[in-house]
Amino acid sequence: MDSTMEASKSPSNKIGSGTASARCPQLDESRQISFESVKEQQSKVWEAAVEESFTIEKGGRNDLFTIEAEDGVVDDALPVQNASLIESSAGQFWGWCSCRDFEREHVCPHLCAIRMHAALDMLTIPRE
Ligand SMILES: [Zn+2]
Repeated sequence: MDSTMEASKSPSNKIGSGTASARCPQLDESRQISFESVKEQQSKVWEAAVEESFTIEKGGRNDLFTIEAEDGVVDDALPVQNASLIESSAGQFWGWCSCRDFEREHVCPHLCAIRMHAALDMLTIPRE
């Protein structure tokens, strides 16, 4: 086989290639997130969202939020991140965040915090 094809591919586009049919229609980088399993399997992420105080504001589109960590519990280079969260008609959450945690783990305290704020009726997660 010819390896020049491989070299021309952008490495950043490799993730998610196996789930093309399940993509969020709004943001290609969005990931399906089960907050239940985050609580169970990535409790560190969930707990960081509980411990941190966040200021969440609506962004330029109804699924977009700007989210600012107040207390420095969430360790990231930028205190303010852009995030997107929607709920599909099937009740699944699709999220994306600009932070490094999301890049690494496909979930992050910011998205958990948005989910928590929604559970407290402090904001609304739009439906697909
Ligand atoms: Zn984040």
